[in-house]
Amino acid sequence: MKRHVVIVGAGIIGASIAYHLSALGMKVTIIDAEGPAAGASGSSDGAVAIATKSPGCLMNLALQSKAYYSELSQNSGPLSGVYHLRSTFLVATNDTEVTCVTEQAESLRQAGASLRTLDGAALQNTLPELRNNIPLVLEIREEGHALGYDVVWHFLKNCAATICRNTTVTGLDVLAGSNRCVGVRTPDGVIAADDVVVAAGLGSSMLIPQIDIRAQRGQLIITERSRLARNLPGALFFASYLVAKSGLVDMASQSAGGPDGAALVIDPLNTGQLLIGSTRESSDDPAHTEFSAVHHILKQAIGYFPALHDLNVIRVFAGIRARTADGLPVIGQIPGSNGLWVATGFAGDGICLAPLVGRELANMMVGKNTFADFASLGPARLGATWSAT
Ligand SMILES: Cc1cc2nc3c(=O)[nH]c(=O)nc-3n(C[C@H](O)[C@H](O)[C@H](O)COP(=O)(O)OP(=O)(O)OC[C@H]3O[C@@H](n4cnc5c(N)ncnc54)[C@H](O)[C@@H]3O)c2cc1C
Repeated sequence: MKRHVVIVGAGIIGASIAYHLSALGMKVTIIDAEGPAAGASGSSDGAVAIATKSPGCLMNLALQSKAYYSELSQNSGPLSGVYHLRSTFLVATNDTEVTCVTEQAESLRQAGASLRTLDGAALQNTLPELRNNIPLVLEIREEGHALGYDVVWHFLKNCAATICRNTTVTGLDVLAGSNRCVGVRTPDGVIAADDVVVAAGLGSSMLIPQIDIRAQRGQLIITERSRLARNLPGALFFASYLVAKSGLVDMASQSAGGPDGAALVIDPLNTGQLLIGSTRESSDDPAHTEFSAVHHILKQAIGYFPALHDLNVIRVFAGIRARTADGLPVIGQIPGSNGLWVATGFAGDGICLAPLVGRELANMMVGKNTFADFASLGPARLGATWSAT
């Protein structure tokens, strides 16, 4: 009989794991409290970029995942037509940011990224709409973009997983007198499994309280379609984004007054629209966006990219990132458990990392070797030893 795996959460991480486990011949059931891409995966940007990753483990994983996106996007691949190559531009607007981008460039070079500094005629030709007198722009080539919900749908439609919608998992089912996880509890009864994978984003702590997940809201703005978006050869990440992403700056306080360049991203979508963002606030409320935050982001954006002034905004929305205390994802088997696995806490990196994480977690589950970088992301580092209750 096939090994049966239940995955809790049909976001991009759960969907990727479902695809890869199915490919290894397992029977997969994926359960979501709402439906596929109902969480962060359906309310985010989709930068598949190493340019903004912290050096070390995250940058290495992003490099591998980017290459794997390209492989999965080939003609008959499951992500064909979903992933698009483009550049990332890191923009430094003052001396502090120049130092930050210069340091990041060194790390990117060491990681093997293809990059160049844009100045003079090259800058004018590549980004003619960018304000004059920007001290440093770095182009990182062969980066990519994928819409999270598109990736979710393509993974799920290319595998034989059973999808259970509108089903909240209320707890884990454990064999009496052991630490063996044998299924999940739902309001409609227990769903039995040989293994359970918790990939429930923000909902993961409710099922495995040892893993502390914090909510971080991001507000995003979408413009109408325009030639500006079509002519922009990649995403502009202002260097303050690197600072905000590293968790050094509290965006909630920034968005009130707003220093220059605060965590600004201007991203051309394949639809011909621009996505402009974003905040990083301590909030788990995806239902509301705030005038002050949106105003601040747009004021910054127009300041550096004046042609935006003439565009119409057609949508503003918020998504919630799921962050661990150390800002790194948690991936692997829960120590002390038998049959319980986790992949959560992807903060602002889940779209980028999902293909690689799905493949590697599936490999772990069948006892194959994985990249060394995954060893440092296991739940043991959070002291997450499990005992059944
Ligand atoms: C504003 C913003 C911008 C971003 N930009 C980028 C970017 O440019 N690049 C990038 O790589 N990443 C980006 N991200 C991050 C990315 O969106 C997330 O890391 C990724 O979507 C996380 O995927 P996930 O599958 O772990 O979680 P989710 O997509 O949140 O999925 C979790 C699912 O679990 C379900 N669930 C929860 N609890 C239960 C339960 N008890 N029972 C059943 N189901 C349950 C939920 O309904 C949900 O569908 C951004 C995020 C935001 C908010």
